[in-house]
Amino acid sequence: MRPFFIIGAIVSSLAYHFSSAQAIIVVKNDHNPDEIKRWAEYYARALDFDTDVYILISFSHRVSRNLGGFTRYRDVRAEGAGHQINITLSRKAGRASQMHTLAHEMVHAQQFIEGRLVQCDLTHYRWKEQACKKVKSMAYLDRPWEKEAIKNGALLYKKYRDEATLREPTEIAHKESAEGGSRTRTSITSHAPETCASTNSATPA
Ligand SMILES: [Zn+2]
Repeated sequence: MRPFFIIGAIVSSLAYHFSSAQAIIVVKNDHNPDEIKRWAEYYARALDFDTDVYILISFSHRVSRNLGGFTRYRDVRAEGAGHQINITLSRKAGRASQMHTLAHEMVHAQQFIEGRLVQCDLTHYRWKEQACKKVKSMAYLDRPWEKEAIKNGALLYKKYRDEATLREPTEIAHKESAEGGSRTRTSITSHAPETCASTNSATPA
């Protein structure tokens, strides 16, 4: 895992070092796909995703609020189809929680794309140069890819949220009051890391 201070430095300078290349992002099953796309495009640029990254973000009632979401990954560069990322988010969660989870899942996407996280088989994963390990033998918070996604996902989410607040204070304030401020804040903090499942890479669950 990279030291936290380096990650923090990278994330805090994101606004000045965005790549011009753009991942292809499609949003399904949401009443405001443009809003989701703005968040996702920000995350994708901040994480330096290239044009061969295809991201499908969908929302499902079958994903519980506590689970938050999960990510599937397929490397089909050999067939000319790039990196395929499928992110599924809970429809039951509030918007703030969904966008926090999206940031977390986009960090997992980055780990897969860069080859730092590899699925060895249905139940085993490899992190960096380490041996393949049975994922269920590791406590959630001991998994290095989760430690990184928790930290960087939170930084990314807060960065975009704060910038959006500066850009559109009236719109944000309106949305928060419409959602109910306390419920929104609760759903952010209740993004329970121990229940997040993010690493169903090559094989659909
Ligand atoms: Zn995760």
